[in-house]
Amino acid sequence: MSDLPSLTSSVYSQALEVIASVEPRIAEATRQELADQRASLKLIASENYASPAVLMTMGTWFSDKYAEGTVGHRFYAACQNVDTVESLAAEHARELFGAEYAYVQPHSGIDANLVAYWSILANRVESPALEKLGAKNVSELTEADWESLRAELGNQRLLGMSLDAGGHLTHGFRPNISGKMFHQQQYGTDPETGLLDYDAVRAKAKEFKPLVLVAGYSAYPRRVNFAKMREIADEVGAVLMVDMAHFAGLVAGKVFTGDENPVPHADIVTTTTHKSLRGPRGGMVLATKEFAADVDRGCPMVLGGPLSHVMAAKAVALAEARQPAFQTYAQNVADNAQSLAEGFTKRGARLVTGGTDNHIVLLDVTSFGLTGRQAESALLDAGVVTNRNSIPSDPNGAWYTSGIRFGTPALTTRGFGHDEFDTVAELVVDVLTNTAAGTTKAGGPSKASYVLGDGIAEKTRAASAEMLDKHPLYPGLELS
Ligand code: PLP
Repeated sequence: MSDLPSLTSSVYSQALEVIASVEPRIAEATRQELADQRASLKLIASENYASPAVLMTMGTWFSDKYAEGTVGHRFYAACQNVDTVESLAAEHARELFGAEYAYVQPHSGIDANLVAYWSILANRVESPALEKLGAKNVSELTEADWESLRAELGNQRLLGMSLDAGGHLTHGFRPNISGKMFHQQQYGTDPETGLLDYDAVRAKAKEFKPLVLVAGYSAYPRRVNFAKMREIADEVGAVLMVDMAHFAGLVAGKVFTGDENPVPHADIVTTTTHKSLRGPRGGMVLATKEFAADVDRGCPMVLGGPLSHVMAAKAVALAEARQPAFQTYAQNVADNAQSLAEGFTKRGARLVTGGTDNHIVLLDVTSFGLTGRQAESALLDAGVVTNRNSIPSDPNGAWYTSGIRFGTPALTTRGFGHDEFDTVAELVVDVLTNTAAGTTKAGGPSKASYVLGDGIAEKTRAASAEMLDKHPLYPGLELS
């Protein structure tokens, strides 16, 4: 964590004492969480280690303040300091991403997507417009007006990337609210290469004519050409929404530029702030001026009062991301993903799409004779924290899965480089090679149980500890 300020031990030791005086079990769990994070290889692609400044900003009295509304237009009194916080966070976001408008209130990535969807409906669906219904304000709408409004909103179409191709639940997955509030269709990836096929997306868009074309992903290990997605959206008159929750850090760090930077191409860009962007848990919406007023109605349309302490931490994280050191970090995240992918490939493992050019590596574990669930559990026993993930046309479904998703943002924050990521690949392959699928109690094949070879977990933990000790998490922080 060489580019982050170090912590002094006394601050958190004192904080834990205060917490322990009220609920010692929470203080203990907090200590244990730090110990566990320090002792494991965190390879979950959506996690990171926020800086001490970001963490501390979340633990203040801003947590106590209600501030529904927008800057200068609040439904609560005494919001002058929250106004400062929200304005600064939005300013940093606009400057960092070159966006026309930034809305920093969403509590999470899913909230940000809901805000975006409602903004698009409000902005683009004509028939519910009050004038068209002959009403001056919402209170004048009759029950029949509301019925036609509901029918019209519910008639809209959304086209997003399918979950098993790497999309997110909120991109129109049927059981998610996004798949219920819109008629949805999904685009996938090429069955041979696993890569996005823009011609196939175009053909589907022309046939389906969506109001919203969603680009972005949770588990696609490649860059997306957003200029091409814009062209497709324009050809069918769709709004282009990009969910950059996963790769916002690579955009902020100028690794994704030109056609790979969604901001100049999309109407609305949503993101989380806690993944590769390395901020507090939260969400954000960037929009063109056209959508700004609609996005601003996020609260009360789908959000409650903003989390003022988290908006403050977003401002701090965004200020960090504007430093030159963040560009080095982002480049290292991408370089380390290459090292990890090469490390797997040279040891004979199969990667979805054959490699990576972002921060994600998706390993197909079927060649080890395992499901994703078995592989995830065996790796966890060995101190390697990952998550199982579907692969395209997954034979094991969304629960057991056939893939393991790896991400480099967290260990890159700790200072891991090329050689360490090559060793990580070696350790992972060693664990999976020495894991066998288990059986059910009745003796049949099981997709969950597994048998890890003797001594493998201990050997892996020892090799990891050598690397982890060289790159301490929160150096200088010793809890008394
Ligand atoms: N969008 C994408 C692409 C994601 O990967 C995720 C998180 O996994 C989200 C949205 C949701 O973020 P959150 O968990 O903050 O609601």
